[in-house]
Amino acid sequence: MKNYQLFIKTLSDLIAFKTVQGAKSENAPFGIENKNALDYTLSLAKEFGFETINYNGYIGEVSFGNGEEIGIIGHLDVVPEGEGWDTDPYTLTIKDGYLYGRGVSDDKSPILLCLFALKELKDSNIVPNKKFRLFFGLNEENGWKDVDYLKTQTTLPKKGFSPDADFPVIYAEKGPSRIDFYLSIPKNLTDISTIGNAGNAVPNHAYIKAPIDKTLIEKYNLKIKGDKIESFGKSAHGSKPHLGKNALKPLFEYLNELNGGKLNDLVDNFFNDAQKISQYGNETGYATFSPNLARIENGYLVISVDFRTPAKLKIEQFYPLFNNICSNYKLTRFRKPHFVDPNSNFVKTLVNAYNSIMNSELKPVSCSGATFAYVFEMGVAFGPEFIGSDNKIHEPNECMSEKELLLAYEIYKKALFDLAK
Ligand SMILES: [Zn+2]
Repeated sequence: MKNYQLFIKTLSDLIAFKTVQGAKSENAPFGIENKNALDYTLSLAKEFGFETINYNGYIGEVSFGNGEEIGIIGHLDVVPEGEGWDTDPYTLTIKDGYLYGRGVSDDKSPILLCLFALKELKDSNIVPNKKFRLFFGLNEENGWKDVDYLKTQTTLPKKGFSPDADFPVIYAEKGPSRIDFYLSIPKNLTDISTIGNAGNAVPNHAYIKAPIDKTLIEKYNLKIKGDKIESFGKSAHGSKPHLGKNALKPLFEYLNELNGGKLNDLVDNFFNDAQKISQYGNETGYATFSPNLARIENGYLVISVDFRTPAKLKIEQFYPLFNNICSNYKLTRFRKPHFVDPNSNFVKTLVNAYNSIMNSELKPVSCSGATFAYVFEMGVAFGPEFIGSDNKIHEPNECMSEKELLLAYEIYKKALFDLAK
């Protein structure tokens, strides 16, 4: 990699900005550390000879070339470091062939690799027939207010990629939504909760308050703790409910038996896929329906579901099924699924860049989450995580191997050079 020493120094400086969401101040809507990291990055890009725009501290842009626009979007903000690190999370540490630090993989290195690849393109004296617009977001981890603001300030390129997920290329994303179902409170239930769950994960711990029936407690493997009946399951990402064991299910089965089978429909609809929701989908994936939260609220039992619409389908197609479950429901979060033609020249150019560097023949893939690529109409996620690597994203000891960092650089560079033609 050209300029590797400068890259490492720049990355080290960037990791030292603790870019977790901070208190808002002037021109720093996401905190002073995010503002400083963006100022630092844009001034470096200016030194490289690029045009830069600072959108009032929400997001930054670096651009180069003339012609059809290609967007590249990543982010400088990070999630809090949490506990359990073997090194200082805000000091770039290189040992045994690995780089460690919060943001090393998500997403400071990848977006910086793209900047350095763009510099190499510029220094090569090739005149691109495209305009590359590289965006440095500051609020990817906390609600995407950076891109919301950006859209009020400029028209975004139609095509683009985001180096903020997996290689080779993600061409289809499910649309994650949250649906609250309002049911009448079953007899015998006085309280219910999933403990410490954020709503996007299968709950591994939940309790109800209800009359105690020792035989049923044993049958459903529940525990009595004070006035609560507790259930333990296995957590999993809300987009992959089949990998978990929902702690709410045995609690409802218990209640159902306590109520003489009156909750059969509830149990079957929420926990046994009675509406066959998971059978709707296509080659990009199938719908998922995961009841991750439950609470008593204003005289209702509210069950909150993480629902994911497969690409090429519309959530409206599922409304009759939701109605069969319970007509009183509310969409509290919604995002459309996302699909880019995997046979388009743009996607082919990116996949080819990956395959030619890796000497492989992989095809574009789909995913169940939502990536930053969503901001472009024809946006795809493109790296930096390789198949089988575990970069500990959002975890302690976040890392990236030097080998993969250098490979990712070659892939981004090839993609930019090929797109420039
Ligand atoms: Zn990210």
